[in-house]
Amino acid sequence: MSDPSDPFPNQRWSARDLAVVWHPCTQMHDHGGAGRVPMIPIVRGEGAWLIDADGKRYLDAISSWWTNLFGHANPRVAAAIKDQLDRLEHVIFAGFTHKPAIRLAEELLRVAPPGLARVFYADNGSSAIEVALKMSFHYWLNSGRSGKTRFIALTGGYHGETLGALSVTDVPLYRATYAPLLHEPILVDSPDCYAREPGDSWRTHSMRKLVDMRIALERHAGEVCAVVVEPLVQCAGGMRMYHPAYLTGLRALCDEFEVHLIADEIAVGFGRTGTLFACEQAGITPDFLCLSKGLTGGFLPLSAVLTTADVYAAFYAEYTSGKSFLHSHSYTGNALACRAALETLAIFRDEPVLERNRTLATRLAQQLAPLAAHPHVAEVRQTGMIAAVELVRDKATRQVFPANERRGLRIYRHGLEQGVLLRPLGNVVYFMPPYVITDEEIDRVVEVATAGIGLAVD
Ligand SMILES: *Cc1c(COP(=O)(O)O)cnc(C)c1O
Repeated sequence: MSDPSDPFPNQRWSARDLAVVWHPCTQMHDHGGAGRVPMIPIVRGEGAWLIDADGKRYLDAISSWWTNLFGHANPRVAAAIKDQLDRLEHVIFAGFTHKPAIRLAEELLRVAPPGLARVFYADNGSSAIEVALKMSFHYWLNSGRSGKTRFIALTGGYHGETLGALSVTDVPLYRATYAPLLHEPILVDSPDCYAREPGDSWRTHSMRKLVDMRIALERHAGEVCAVVVEPLVQCAGGMRMYHPAYLTGLRALCDEFEVHLIADEIAVGFGRTGTLFACEQAGITPDFLCLSKGLTGGFLPLSAVLTTADVYAAFYAEYTSGKSFLHSHSYTGNALACRAALETLAIFRDEPVLERNRTLATRLAQQLAPLAAHPHVAEVRQTGMIAAVELVRDKATRQVFPANERRGLRIYRHGLEQGVLLRPLGNVVYFMPPYVITDEEIDRVVEVATAGIGLAVD
């Protein structure tokens, strides 16, 4: 692994990187000058672990931005891609098709909530949201309802950072600067249960928030194409969670007011919330189901928008009617990515993944439980394999630590020193590990996070 002619591989690669690369979601200045945050060159992955150029190991407690499901360099997914690589890497997806894309569409429709009948591919999460927004708008246009041009989104929601997806995102860190470029959604109060009154259950609180949605729909349904939500967990907005009953109620409201429901399961899909898809817990089928991230097990960029026969039918007409959905990305339906996704679904089929995850989720809950008593922890919450610890300056008033104090960054740095990759969202320390993590590794992650929290709130 280490090259004897090169005694400082981490330092050298990091210096070369910082001379030419511009990283996402990063103030590059953090990596320059005194007290800099290290840039870590990773040379290998193995299960839940990442290994840097110096040979140091990091437990990936956040699944590399929520993409990885069954471990880095997972042998099954790797073998499937290698096999595909020698057959067909990619082909134009207009007028041409291939087995992996066909089989993946069949398989996705088989495991998705009932009533979805068509799969449209794109190549990342944000693009899937763009597709769903455009398709919903265009459906209403094709149906003679051209007045429907707007979208309803929830406060604290995140749907990606391309301009259309960012428009329906309500995380100021990402949105505020670009606001002049964006279209304005109708924002409705999130069912986020962190905001519930003491004594209220998640269910009571979430259900009460349906009143706000009803009011917005009563006022705006005539101009609204769709409501877009992250089912059960608003991830980038701080791992804020709510009860499935909200989704059940939302589905009924969307039907009553004739607007689409777009379920953005880009982060929560593929078992993160305990069920294969979060919508299952509410017993609902959205009009559009957006999938990406875990779709390929974390190997390759790919996204899919699943929709209904009704939506498909609104576009199916003579060419000259001008009703076609004209949206394309060069890498739509990439064959390698589709093969990776097929193998990922095969692992879900062959192994008791969700059952095993229940045991892991219980372990995570047990280990995190003591943190609830910490004087700077307002809440420890969990939905399936996603857990979060909300840090506050004052537990009684829930007064927050100012963002510029960057307490989360101290936890991140402590984690790196201790060989655990944690990447808090502001004052929220969260855990979304790959499903191959062991009990002992969970214990280690929580131990390091707890020590990091202790340092950060000092
Ligand atoms: C990550 C994410 C997206 C955007 O996906 P990208 O592939 O990063 O563009 C959209 N919605 C949700 C809920 C996400 O977590």
